[in-house]
Amino acid sequence: MSEVTEDAVLCMQHCTNQMNIFFTKFPETCPVCGKTLKSCTLIIPPFRVPSPFVSQNNVSCLFMVKPTKGSFLRDYNSGENLHVGIAASNGLVYNFDELGLHADRADWEQCIVVSAPNDTHVSSSEQWDSKLQQMYSSGLWTSKEYDEHNNNCYDFALSFLNQILPANLEPFQKQDFCKDFIAPSTTKAAYYIDLYRRVQQGSGVSVERCRHR
Ligand SMILES: [Zn+2]
Repeated sequence: MSEVTEDAVLCMQHCTNQMNIFFTKFPETCPVCGKTLKSCTLIIPPFRVPSPFVSQNNVSCLFMVKPTKGSFLRDYNSGENLHVGIAASNGLVYNFDELGLHADRADWEQCIVVSAPNDTHVSSSEQWDSKLQQMYSSGLWTSKEYDEHNNNCYDFALSFLNQILPANLEPFQKQDFCKDFIAPSTTKAAYYIDLYRRVQQGSGVSVERCRHR
């Protein structure tokens, strides 16, 4: 199991099953009843709330999304610009911006993954990597060619996906891809981002009524 990082949100219940206690810092006393939480019985012991984020350090061959500026958890507001890249099998993220196409070893530690549509799965990671390498050395993705609106990170990433797409399938279009694949992923992440910020605002703890159905 991976180590719990400072950004992990955990959840537990102490004295009532009506209230979830979310926290990043284990509280000394129960924020519901005020009793000490040292060696007490919990209705639900702490568990980690599943995070929508992945790091380039433990992924391979994925379509990665992050905010153009800052991080999802701390900075991102819905509707702001996103930057996308393609992770190779070793976690290097190939991405295209005003500097041209480059492969990053860092700065992709808190990303959302866009599950590539079923049909785009490639037969091997070798094929995925070699196509990335080919585009990297093609000389087609230079700073000169970059255009914020008409030839940006999406154009590179979609061009990549389209090149590994089986020949019988329609290539992805930029607008559709954003709407059909990127927006649903960021919407899913929004719940976690909001929860994380409520916990931060509460100095590491937020008590929330359970949403029983
Ligand atoms: Zn309590």
